[in-house]
Amino acid sequence: MSGSSPTPASPSSTPPSLWAATAPSAPPTRTLAGETRADLAVIGAGVTGLSTALHAAEAGLTVTVVEAEEAGFGGSGRNNGQVIPTLAKPDPSDLVAKWGEAGERLARMVGESAALVFDLIDRHAIACEAVQHGWLQPAHRPSRLTVSQKRHREWTARGLDCRLVDRAETAALTGSDYWAGGLLCPTGGHVTPLALTRGLARAAQKAGATVYTASPVTGIDRRGSDWRVATPGGAVTARAVVIATSAYGQGVWPTLERSIVPVRNFQMSTQPLPPEVLAKVIPADVAISDTHGDLYFFRKTADGRLVSGCTLTSRTSDPTEAKARVIARILEVFPQAGRQTIDYCWHGQLDFTPDFHPRFYSLEPGIFAAIGYNGRGLALGVAVGRELARAAAGTPFSQLALPDGGKPRPLPFHGLITGVAPLMMHWWRHKDGRD
Ligand SMILES: Cc1cc2nc3c(=O)[nH]c(=O)nc-3n(C[C@H](O)[C@H](O)[C@H](O)COP(=O)(O)OP(=O)(O)OC[C@H]3O[C@@H](n4cnc5c(N)ncnc54)[C@H](O)[C@@H]3O)c2cc1C
Repeated sequence: MSGSSPTPASPSSTPPSLWAATAPSAPPTRTLAGETRADLAVIGAGVTGLSTALHAAEAGLTVTVVEAEEAGFGGSGRNNGQVIPTLAKPDPSDLVAKWGEAGERLARMVGESAALVFDLIDRHAIACEAVQHGWLQPAHRPSRLTVSQKRHREWTARGLDCRLVDRAETAALTGSDYWAGGLLCPTGGHVTPLALTRGLARAAQKAGATVYTASPVTGIDRRGSDWRVATPGGAVTARAVVIATSAYGQGVWPTLERSIVPVRNFQMSTQPLPPEVLAKVIPADVAISDTHGDLYFFRKTADGRLVSGCTLTSRTSDPTEAKARVIARILEVFPQAGRQTIDYCWHGQLDFTPDFHPRFYSLEPGIFAAIGYNGRGLALGVAVGRELARAAAGTPFSQLALPDGGKPRPLPFHGLITGVAPLMMHWWRHKDGRD
C-alpha cells in the first residue's frame, strides 16, 4: 500500500452543535495520498459507512473508508440521537406490499436494529451517553391511536418487543398530559450521535479498517473487475464499493443523489434544566417522537437538557423562526419547564424519498448503496451497514435483508422539487389538525 499524508486531517469541518461541544474527540485519521488497495472501499463515514466498515473488517476484509470531511459530518453527527426500531412511515405490511419477501426480511431487520445499536455500544465500549429506556411514539390525538394499534400489531408479528400504553402511562413516562397514549418500544432509546459515530470509527479502525478523512471522492472508475475510487490526493482500488453518502453526497453517483429530496431540519438544546424541573420532564428518560406529520420530538441529555427541533416551510438557514417554534412547543407540551432559552442550535439534511421507503441498490457489479432513510437512519443505518458488509463479502444481494431497488431513478425537476419540498410542511400541519 502506498500511503497517506504524514499529518492528521483537520477536524475543524464539524459544524458547531451541542454534540460537537460534548462528544469525545474523533480518532486520529489521515488524508488519502497516493494509490492504495483494499477488498472494500466505503465512501462516507456516517453510521452506515462505519458500520459497514466495522462488520466487513470483523469478517476479515481489508477495508478503506474515504470521507470528504470527517466522521459524523453528515446526518450521523447532527441528529437527535433517537434510536428507533421502526421506519418513519412504512409499516411491515407496506414493506411487504412493495418489496415482497425482501420486505419481510427488511421489517425484521428494522425491528432488531435498536438492540443491535446498544449491543455494539456495549461490545465496543463506545462512550456515547447511551440510554436504553425505550422509544415512545405517543398519539397527538385520540384518533391517531389507530396508528399505534396498527404498528403494534404489525411490528410485534415481526418479533419487535413493543406494547401499547394508555393515556395515564404515557403521562407517567413523559411528565406530560399532552398525548392520548401510544406505542412504547423498550429496545429503543437515545445516544449522543456524534459520539456514537466517532466510536464506530474507532471500533472500525481497531478491527483493521483504515479511515481517511478530508478526502472527497471525485469519481469511481472501472479497473478490470475492480473499481478505482479517486480523491484529489490519491485513490483506492477495491473489488467492492459501498456508497453511504445519504443526503450529503456530492458528485459520487449523480443519479443516486438526485433520487432523494434533501430537506433541512433544525435541532436545538435548552440550557440544563433545574433539578426540580428535570425530574418532572420525561421522568422515564425515554426518547419521544410522536404521530404529528410535523413531528414533535424530544429527548433529554445526560446533563439535563431537552433536545428537540423542527422543520420549517422555507429553506432558510436562519434559526430564528425554528427557535421560536420549538420554545413554544416545549411550553405547550411541558408547561412545567417554563419558557426555555436555547443554548445550541444547528441543522442537518434529511434524505426523503417520495414514498418514504428507504432504497438499497446494487448499482454495478460490486458497487452497493443505501439512501432515503427519511429521518430514521440512526439504528437503520447501523443495521444496513451490517448487511452491506455481507454484500461486500460476496453474499448475493437477493439474500440480504435489503430489497433490491433496481437502478436509482432521479426525481424529475430535482432542483425545483428540492426548492418547494419544505412547503409540504403546510400539508402535514393541516393534516395534523384534522385527523
Ligand atoms: C437533523 C437530523 C435529525 C435526525 N434525527 C434522527 C433521529 O433522532 N433518529 C434517527 O434514527 N435518525 C435521525 N436522523 C436521520 C439520520 O441521522 C440519518 O439517516 C443517518 O445519520 C444517515 O447516516 P449515513 O451514514 O447514511 O449518512 P451521513 O451520516 O449523512 O454520512 C454521509 C457522509 O458521506 C460523506 N460524503 C458525502 N459526499 C462524499 C464524497 N464525495 N466523498 C466522501 N465522502 C462523502 C459526508 O461528508 C458524510 O459524512 C436525523 C437526521 C437529521 C439530519
